[in-house]
Amino acid sequence: MQPVNCALCGAAASVVRFELTKGTDSPWFFINECQDCGHVYMNPRPTETELAAFYTKDYHYDAFYSEHFAKQARQFYQELQRVIPAQSKLLDVGCSKGYFLHFAKQAGHQVTGIEYSADAAAYAKDNFDIDVKVGSVDAVELPAHSFDVITAFDLIEHVPDFQATLKRFQHWLKPGGLLIIDTPNYDSIYRKLTTDRWVGFDMPFHIHLFRPKTLRRALVGNGFKIKQTTTSHFNILSREGLIRSKMFGLLTIAVKLLRLTGAWERAQKSYWVQPVAHQNQPVNQTVGETGYHEPKITVLDILEAGLNKPINKIVADRWLMGDGLRVIAQT
Ligand SMILES: [Zn+2]
Repeated sequence: MQPVNCALCGAAASVVRFELTKGTDSPWFFINECQDCGHVYMNPRPTETELAAFYTKDYHYDAFYSEHFAKQARQFYQELQRVIPAQSKLLDVGCSKGYFLHFAKQAGHQVTGIEYSADAAAYAKDNFDIDVKVGSVDAVELPAHSFDVITAFDLIEHVPDFQATLKRFQHWLKPGGLLIIDTPNYDSIYRKLTTDRWVGFDMPFHIHLFRPKTLRRALVGNGFKIKQTTTSHFNILSREGLIRSKMFGLLTIAVKLLRLTGAWERAQKSYWVQPVAHQNQPVNQTVGETGYHEPKITVLDILEAGLNKPINKIVADRWLMGDGLRVIAQT
């Protein structure tokens, strides 16, 4: 682990907001907020070698996530199809198993991916016949000014030097090209309610946590013009939110409500109450299946979307406090 300054503004002064661990044999991770610009980041940060070891040991998703990410990719494509010009040359950075590129390719775009995991890249090649460059975003070579659109979903929070990554995006995009970034939103209400159980605290993988103002500042600082800022998927009522916070999200909210009414203190006096452990639990570590099936819309999906819709109108659309942050920018 090495101490670092704020990667957004360079300031050294920061305050610790959260202390997180994954359990008894895991180190503690400290989430700091820059006192100058408000950027939120892990400090100290694992070295590249330590980070590579964490990815080998802990970073896998199970079958639930394969299905979940396929659905999410389809939803992302549906949301973005109005923004992406027809028959674009499209690069998805951190493309994982290639789900988003699969939907984009079906719609007639010419697609390329970059993926760190050779297994995930092979999955995309085998199932969707997609050209995926294997390697980190800082190492892969691509021709200058050759893409109309670059997408990066859940990528930028993983990259230690995100400023260098944004410069590479600028270099790979054609003049007027679009950059679409999705990342967890540190300003989300769900984070405020679930505190250290928040799904965005995926340590040690989420090195940076952005909020609308810090992501926009990073983009403008690297020569992009901001076209649109939105937030999405307010997770309180979603199965992903519940599973990733191991149901503690809802429990924490219930406790907060009880505290407001004084009922929590009364209950503590009357009964023995097990305290909520301050641990950021790892997700299940089973490697996903190898075949691909188009995700099916279930009754639960329809219910979840229906429940979330009215809340999203205010929380995500008006306040920019949904759990996912999306900024669309232009070179
Ligand atoms: Zn800063």
